[in-house]
Amino acid sequence: MATYDFDYYQPKSIQEATSLFHALKLEGKSPKYFSGGTEIITLGRLNVVYTDAVIDLKGIPEYEVLYSSESRLIVGGGLSIVQIEESNPFPLLSKTSSEIADHTSRTKITIGGNICAEIYYREAVLPFLLSDSILMIAGFDGIKFFPIHQVFDRYLHLNEGSFLVQVSTDRKFIEAPYVSIKRRRQWNTGYPLITVAALKIDNQIRVAISGLCPFPFRAFEMEEHLNNDQLTMDEKIEDAILHLPSPILNDTEGSSEYRLFVLKNILFDILIELEKG
Ligand SMILES: Cc1cc2nc3c(=O)[nH]c(=O)nc-3n(C[C@H](O)[C@H](O)[C@H](O)COP(=O)(O)OP(=O)(O)OC[C@H]3O[C@@H](n4cnc5c(N)ncnc54)[C@H](O)[C@@H]3O)c2cc1C
Repeated sequence: MATYDFDYYQPKSIQEATSLFHALKLEGKSPKYFSGGTEIITLGRLNVVYTDAVIDLKGIPEYEVLYSSESRLIVGGGLSIVQIEESNPFPLLSKTSSEIADHTSRTKITIGGNICAEIYYREAVLPFLLSDSILMIAGFDGIKFFPIHQVFDRYLHLNEGSFLVQVSTDRKFIEAPYVSIKRRRQWNTGYPLITVAALKIDNQIRVAISGLCPFPFRAFEMEEHLNNDQLTMDEKIEDAILHLPSPILNDTEGSSEYRLFVLKNILFDILIELEKG
């Protein structure tokens, strides 16, 4: 596993987990929450991540919940991507996350771990950004609920010792028409060149993107142009791409020019699909 030793804890409740984190910090340890463990193990082997105390969240009942009421869907952060694919409570989430990694890795990778991952793709967050979901976050001072856009800006901003417990989504978004398109440089598993997830609600198209910039984001400003009925489809796309939140990535996966070309094509496909209805 990792190239260093660490203690392993499996708390049975939210309060036990946060108290344990706090106590370990007071002892001078460097605790880390552990969900699917894929990133902690991978980055630990490379000595990019260090911990001497792992707190496995998967024994906590609230973390494993999948609950659907007439009005909302609650997804526990501990559900693996394969569990989401198999139960399919949120088709856009299933579609977007089913493109992450290979099937064996997806039996381990969790929704919570992907949203909180250090590797910046975090594709599982896209459907929740599109649906203005509510995040349940546990800290030493108790449990709090936050609209996702208040706490997720490029990454999930958590106070030290806090962890993401659940995500709650209004059912109207779950039933909305959607598209999710992932383009890779090669092969059909692995990290994206670009992934764009989109849905249409109240006659407006919403777009969230991973792989284009070094963080996933909801493209609020681009949406204004994509929904401007005064413009032709080409004009909508040309105006939208003037409003990216940061320069486009330029790396071994693809040049920024190539990513921009791919993005335009994806946006075109999305507009065609979602403007139908
Ligand atoms: C072969 C392979 C291919 C992959 N391809 C992609 C891809 O294309 N796109 C993509 O988005 N991802 C991809 N991933 C997954 C990604 O890189 C991470 O490994 C994964 O999302 C981490 O999830 P996990 O549940 O294993 O988290 P863990 O490894 O358990 O945790 C990841 C980080 O989040 C923290 N953490 C975990 N849970 C919580 C929580 N509830 N609250 C607060 N902090 C928490 C941990 O302390 C750690 O720092 C791939 C992974 C593999 C192995």
